[in-house]
Amino acid sequence: MTATSLGFPRIGARRELKTALERFWSGQADEASLRATAAALRHRHWALQREAGIDTVPCGDFSLYDHVLDTACAVGAIPPGYGWRPGEPVSLETYFALARGRGGQEEGCGCGHEHGQGTGLPALDMTKWFDTNYHNLTPVFRPGQDFAPTGFPAVESFEEARQAGFAARPVLLGPVSFLLLGRMAEGDGDPLDLLPGLLPVYAETLRRLAAAGARWVQMDEPCLVLDLGDKARAAYQSAYQALAGVAPPLSLLLTTYFGGLRDNLDLALRLPVEGLHLDLVRAPEQLAPALRAAPARMVLSLGLVDGRNVWRTDLRRAFGLLREAAANRRPEALLVAPSCSLLHSPIDLEQETALDPELRGWMAFARQKLEEVAILARGLREGPGTIEPALRDSDARQESRRASPRLHDPAVAARLAAGSAADATRQAPFPERQAAQRARLRLPPYPTTSIGSLPQTAEIRAARARFRRGELDEAGYEDFLRGRIVEAIRWQEEAGIDMPVHGEFERNDMVEHFAEHLSGYAVTKHGWVQSYGSRCVKPPILYGDVSRPAPMTVRWSAYAQSLTARPVKGMLTGPVTMMQWAFVRDDIPAATVRRQLAYALRDEVVELEAAGIAAVQIDEPAIREGLPLRRADREAYLHDAVECFRIAASGVGDATQIHTHMCYSEFNDIIGSIAAMDADVISIETARSRMALLEAFADFRYPNEIGPGVWDIHSPRVPEAEEMRRLLLAAAQRIPADRLWVNPDCGLKTRRWEEVRPAIANMVAAARTLRAQAAE
Ligand code: GLN
Ligand code: ZN
Repeated sequence: MTATSLGFPRIGARRELKTALERFWSGQADEASLRATAAALRHRHWALQREAGIDTVPCGDFSLYDHVLDTACAVGAIPPGYGWRPGEPVSLETYFALARGRGGQEEGCGCGHEHGQGTGLPALDMTKWFDTNYHNLTPVFRPGQDFAPTGFPAVESFEEARQAGFAARPVLLGPVSFLLLGRMAEGDGDPLDLLPGLLPVYAETLRRLAAAGARWVQMDEPCLVLDLGDKARAAYQSAYQALAGVAPPLSLLLTTYFGGLRDNLDLALRLPVEGLHLDLVRAPEQLAPALRAAPARMVLSLGLVDGRNVWRTDLRRAFGLLREAAANRRPEALLVAPSCSLLHSPIDLEQETALDPELRGWMAFARQKLEEVAILARGLREGPGTIEPALRDSDARQESRRASPRLHDPAVAARLAAGSAADATRQAPFPERQAAQRARLRLPPYPTTSIGSLPQTAEIRAARARFRRGELDEAGYEDFLRGRIVEAIRWQEEAGIDMPVHGEFERNDMVEHFAEHLSGYAVTKHGWVQSYGSRCVKPPILYGDVSRPAPMTVRWSAYAQSLTARPVKGMLTGPVTMMQWAFVRDDIPAATVRRQLAYALRDEVVELEAAGIAAVQIDEPAIREGLPLRRADREAYLHDAVECFRIAASGVGDATQIHTHMCYSEFNDIIGSIAAMDADVISIETARSRMALLEAFADFRYPNEIGPGVWDIHSPRVPEAEEMRRLLLAAAQRIPADRLWVNPDCGLKTRRWEEVRPAIANMVAAARTLRAQAAE
């Protein structure tokens, strides 16, 4: 009965890896110092896992940037142009050029989810790692390409661990998932056709690991929880047939996570591997069928502790599942593990000294999760009696959480119960609203606006830091913010922005800011999780019923409005995004939490309207990424997400214009749901893809107004007016010109004023040219 870990966060409890990477990239530190930091983190994390009671620690789970990129580099799947020649090892220069591009500049809008590149050598594309907020790089393959090992990092990590005194289990991204996560360079062909050429590299790696003394290898095949076609299923069979027994006595532990295997369970159980890991947090129901159908020789690794959320495990329940398994198989054929790699979990709750002690008592970060794994394993090994105190402690924590008045707000429950379908419907249909809004707003054709945030300058960040440290009092800080709003409004009027914004200077982050103002959320100090490369996000924790004790944005928007005759656009983060970018309570359905958020935000929208704000933007950049992994679950999600947005948006009168904004996703396949949100105006990222979004409008008539972004704000490049005018003309081919808005792709908080001023001037010039042309 072994306690194991599938992977540990790489970034470090104090984000040491982030610091080391950024120092290296800026030339302040050399490769040796970066590598030394990385090695120190690996050693520290092995020791920490052992101290937590883990018998088998992973190795090879560390990465300087991304584990999918590491795999591509290890097997020589490197597109030409990055300074690598076949047969050679991959230099750090090549590695980071693939990760970040070269000659251009990588930029984010600051929410931790953006990625763009400048003009030089492009980075590989980034994709969301399944349904997490981690982003992996997308390998690019060429038809008929060769694979060859460029080195054996798995063997090196195994040796490194052994020298440190650990008999570690190497982790590899399995060959089928690796290919499925990639794409062909020219878009034609199927990566799976490359499998025969890839398998010898895996076989050689396994042989070398066996020779080095490894007894088990963890083969991550998360794609097994997706909808698979016949070809992918056949690929799994041929891949593992080919790898079975190539390196005796090495055994393979096939790991699946982020959901149940469902229709792929039989496939997985029939593969010639020695072990299978199951995610029993997302899919506890798969234990019984797996126990029935798994061959007796097969080791089952039970993912009983949630690797992706921050709550303590109900140990008694988890132990029940474990005993169910133990009744069926030899103890040597069982492992206890987190549900998935802990990459998606913050590192150590011990650091959260400022967190409310009661809340803390309900939580577990990576280190505490491993302690839970160890307890469960011990219970089976040494008898339930030995862990009874721990089970009782767990019972008490679960009970205290269940019963806590801080979780349950009867007023919130009553509000939801009283809700009706009418709450999700505007008073009049769009054409009537449009007429009322046009009469009220009196905007020119091709109205100009922005997405909300203006540059967060060093001055603004410094003022906020001084305020947080208590060096600047609240009145002083607010005076400072009002000064910035005055400047912002004045500048937007001069620049010719038809619908100005207040600038979001008071916000550190579009989710954390609202989390700090809503009840039911807690924020941490060090709860960082890697988003990509050196980028981390610190999701707030949604622990209780959500309500809005006081207005959140009204005075800032109203103040901005008092300074100008133009309609100021209010700015909120929507219910779907407020949930998607948080750790969410697991004691009630996610859909209920989302609905609570929808009602809390609805009140804010209504209050903005009452304060004289004629347009309110409700940002939902995360709506696409909440999409479930399995097609069968998607419709229910989309239906619910759309309804929650509509609840937030529909409390206002017809003459109040509701905007929404989306970015950093492909929206073409959910365009019907986006239309169903029934926002009066949507601003949507399109500049980076040169309006690829517009393809969706070829056969779908988007009914309301739309602002396709004409300036890719992820790059420091300032586009010319003519370029933006042409993008708008392209849009006007598909969308009636009288429904087009003119705006950037996303918020401007990470851009500098030196870029924003000329780019906005060009954008306004483009709109004016089009107006003049239309008037001719
Ligand atoms: N209103 C937000 C901003 O402008 C939107 C950010 C986003 O979509 N990621 O910053
Ligand atoms: Zn955006």
